Amino acid sequence: MHMTNVYEAYSVINGKQQDGGATTIYNPSNLSEHVGILHDVSSPVVEEATEAAKHAQQAWASLSGLKKGATLENLAVKLEENKEDIATLASSEMGKPIKEMKGEVARGVQLLRYYAAEGSRSDGDVIPAADPQVHQYSKRVPLGVVGVITPWNFPVAIPIWKIAPALICGNAVVWKPAKQAALTASKIMDVFQEVLPAGLINMLIGSGSQLGNTLLEKATIDALSFTGSTATGLHAAAICASRNIKYQTEMGGKNVAVVLDDADLDKTVSAILSGTFTSAGQKCTASSRIVAEKTIMPALKDKLKTAVAELRVGEALDEQNFLGPVSSKDQYEKVNGYISLAKKEANVVAETETIASDQEGYYIQPLIVEGVDANHTLAQEEVFGPFAVLLEAEDFDEAIDIANHTDYGLSASIFTNDLSRSHQFLERSEAGMVRVNLETAGVEFQAPFGGMKMSSSHTREQGQAALEFYSETKTCAIKHNG
Ligand code: NAD
Repeated sequence: MHMTNVYEAYSVINGKQQDGGATTIYNPSNLSEHVGILHDVSSPVVEEATEAAKHAQQAWASLSGLKKGATLENLAVKLEENKEDIATLASSEMGKPIKEMKGEVARGVQLLRYYAAEGSRSDGDVIPAADPQVHQYSKRVPLGVVGVITPWNFPVAIPIWKIAPALICGNAVVWKPAKQAALTASKIMDVFQEVLPAGLINMLIGSGSQLGNTLLEKATIDALSFTGSTATGLHAAAICASRNIKYQTEMGGKNVAVVLDDADLDKTVSAILSGTFTSAGQKCTASSRIVAEKTIMPALKDKLKTAVAELRVGEALDEQNFLGPVSSKDQYEKVNGYISLAKKEANVVAETETIASDQEGYYIQPLIVEGVDANHTLAQEEVFGPFAVLLEAEDFDEAIDIANHTDYGLSASIFTNDLSRSHQFLERSEAGMVRVNLETAGVEFQAPFGGMKMSSSHTREQGQAALEFYSETKTCAIKHNG
C-alpha cells in the first residue's frame, strides 16, 4: 500500500493561513487511506481576501514588466523543484494517474515561463494620428483584482493558466479552487508563498455554493475567470453580466472522435483510448462519442474490444496503470448512474473486466457501448467518466452531422488519411479545438484553448489570448504644443 503523509490544507489571505473547519480527505484509490485535512472557511473572509488583493495589486502593478517576469520565473523554479511532491499529493487526493499528474505539473512550469517572458514584450501599439503633432498609442493596463474559480480535474494546470497571465498583466488574484482539489491548491500556495508578495494571490477553501457564490455576488472583484460545469458557468456568467464584471467561462464538453473508412486503425484506436480513458475520462476534452463510417465499423469494434479489455485500471500512484479511480464519491455515483443506464439501454462493445488493485476505491471499469441513437442521453450528456458511446454514420456527411449534433463544442477529432476530408472536417466542425489523427485533448500552452456553443463564453485561454482577457486597453494621445 502507498502511504501519503497527511497534509493539512489552509486558505491563505494576505500571506497568512486561516483556521477553519476540518474535513478529512481519503484517497480515492484506497478509501482507508487518510490523505489530508481541509480547513475550510466561510463567506465573511471573502471581503478580507479581496481587500488584501487590492492592496497588493497596487504595489505589484507599479513594478516593471521585467520585474514581474522575474517573479514568475521564480515561481516556475519553485514549482519544478516541488514537482514530485505536488504530483503525488494531487494523485492521492483526486486519483489522476501519477504520470499524467507529473506531466500536468510540468505544463504548469511551462505556462509560468511563457507568461514570465511576456514581461519583456511589447504591450501596446503606436497608432498614426491625423494630426502630426499628436502621438497616439494604445497600451494594456491591469484589470485590478481577478476572481479565479477552478475545477478539480486539472488541479495544477488550470489554476496556473489563469493565475500566470493574470499576474503578468499586473493583477492580483482571489482564487477559489474546487474542494476536491484543495489539498493540491494549498500545496501550490505553500510553494508560491516563498516567492510572492503577501496578498498577491489569496486562496480560499470552501464550498462553491456559499464561498464561491459570495465571490461572484458580493466581492469587489474586477474580473472573473471560471472553469467548471456548464450549469455553474452560466450561473457565474449571469451574475458577472449583471455587475458588469468582465468574465470568461470554460465549461463542459461532449467531444467526438470521428473514424473514416480509410483510417489507420491501430493508430486510431490507440489515440481513442488515450482521448477517452486517460484521467478516467474526467477531462472536459475527453472523447465520449465515437462516430464511425459504416464500412469500417466491424473492424473498429474488434480492435476496441481487444484494446479496452487490456487496459490496466488501478491505484493512481502505480505507474503501470493506464487509469485510476474517479475522483470522489459524488463522481462515482454520478458516473455509475450513466453506466447503469448504458447497461440497460445499450449494448456493450468493449469493457475492461478487472481492476488491478485489491483496495477499495472509486474504480469504474472502462466501457464503450453501441445501440443508441445520437439523441440519446448517453450521446448528449457529459458523463465525465471512463465511458464512450459508438455511433454509426452512413457516410462522411452524416458523420459530420452527428459530430455537430450536440450543445457542446470543445474538442473534435477525425481519423483519416484523406487530405480533402480532413480539411472539410476542420472547416465544418463546430468546436473550438479541432484535430486530425490526434486525440481530443487540450492544446499546448502557447495556443488558444476554448470552446464554442455551450462549452465556453467564446473567449480563449492560454497563449496570447489570455493577455487580452486579463487586461484592458487604454488608448492614449498627447499633443505636442511646441
Ligand atoms: P463545478 O461547476 O461543480 O465546479 C467548478 C468550480 O465552481 C468549483 O470550484 C466549485 O466549488 C465552484 N462552484 C460551484 N458552485 C458555485 C457557485 N454557485 N458559485 C460559484 N462557484 C461555484 O465543476 P467541477 O465538477 O469542479 O468540474 C467538472 C466540470 O468542469 C466538467 O463539466 C468539465 O467539463 C468542466 N471543465 C471544463 C474545462 C474547460 O476548459 N472547458 C476544463 C476542465 C473542466
